Amino acid sequence: MKRHHITAIILLLAAAAICVYAGGLFLSLREPDVIKPGEGVTEVRKLSDYFAPLKGTRGDTDIYVLKGEGDGGRVLVLGGTHANEPSGYLAAVVLVEKAKVTAGELFVIPRANNSAFTHNDSQEGAPLYLHLTNPAGEERAFRYGSRATNVIDQWPDPDVYEHASSGQQLSGSETRNLNRGYPGRADGNLTEQMCYAITEMIKKEDIGLTFDLHEASPEYPVIHATVAHEKAMDIAAIGSFELDMLGIAMALEPSPVNLRGLTHRELGDYTDTYPLLMETANASQGRLRGATNEKLALDGKDKFYVAAEKLGMLYVPYDENGHSIEERVGRHLQGILSYTTAYSDFSGNVVTIENVPGYEEVMASTVGNFLN
Ligand SMILES: [Zn+2]
Repeated sequence: MKRHHITAIILLLAAAAICVYAGGLFLSLREPDVIKPGEGVTEVRKLSDYFAPLKGTRGDTDIYVLKGEGDGGRVLVLGGTHANEPSGYLAAVVLVEKAKVTAGELFVIPRANNSAFTHNDSQEGAPLYLHLTNPAGEERAFRYGSRATNVIDQWPDPDVYEHASSGQQLSGSETRNLNRGYPGRADGNLTEQMCYAITEMIKKEDIGLTFDLHEASPEYPVIHATVAHEKAMDIAAIGSFELDMLGIAMALEPSPVNLRGLTHRELGDYTDTYPLLMETANASQGRLRGATNEKLALDGKDKFYVAAEKLGMLYVPYDENGHSIEERVGRHLQGILSYTTAYSDFSGNVVTIENVPGYEEVMASTVGNFLN
């Protein structure tokens, strides 16, 4: 055998080894994270329980039900509408693992777009996983996914995405954005079917208050904000006042009537629920960021954002302390507690959630300390 044959064989074997490793890693991203429900969880359902065609697809996802002994109202929390916005996902996981409901009922969907957790946005350099340490010293891994449904589950994108019930036109890739597809369609694409199933669930369970948890880049105008449907404005105003008293700056934004397909618009128009959407500041999805890695997603420290703030380019304060996952999860959890109290007082449909850390408690600790 000639020397160049040996070289070719070695290179082929090396290429095959890389393919096997990369293929295994690629497939492993489809494995759902381990979530360890706490004793407050009374039942685990599937989204497909409300719309059977989702069964067996990657659009199906777990719904954790926390039912109190006492009667009351019903609240829904959607985490992971966008799987690259970890604070919403992790706040929902903390609820599942720690919350106890004494009156009313709490429904939590940590991975609202389950398919979006099975891949990453290409060319963003995002980390595959975030790791948190629980009080027992064990490492817990959570996926950092994509903004949109996996193309393996829904393809191809149209050139122009036309929102079914309004005719609104957006760029083609938005056809895989869960938060542009509401109220959804039973005979639509997978993303529209997920929206439809969530809408059906809200109707069937008579959900009075719905949270949709998000993050945005620090240069995005709607940030450190709660977006509320007009009929939810009273509740949002009372809750925001309490947040203000707790030292949490939260802008209150009315849901634009001409921006269609979003939870805070369509769930308010098509169901009886009061929808609220909250945004925290996540540098790891911003356009001005430096090196993108797990550290940035967790501590939010980025010198380029500090510089951008000095130039007046941002909509949130930004200093060397960054915006940590503790601050972002703490904001979401406190928002859920404060707005739920406002809803209970306002509607008389009481939902009492206990054992959930508020903003100060998370800030004084780590998110991992509130995991099982
Ligand atoms: Zn989002």
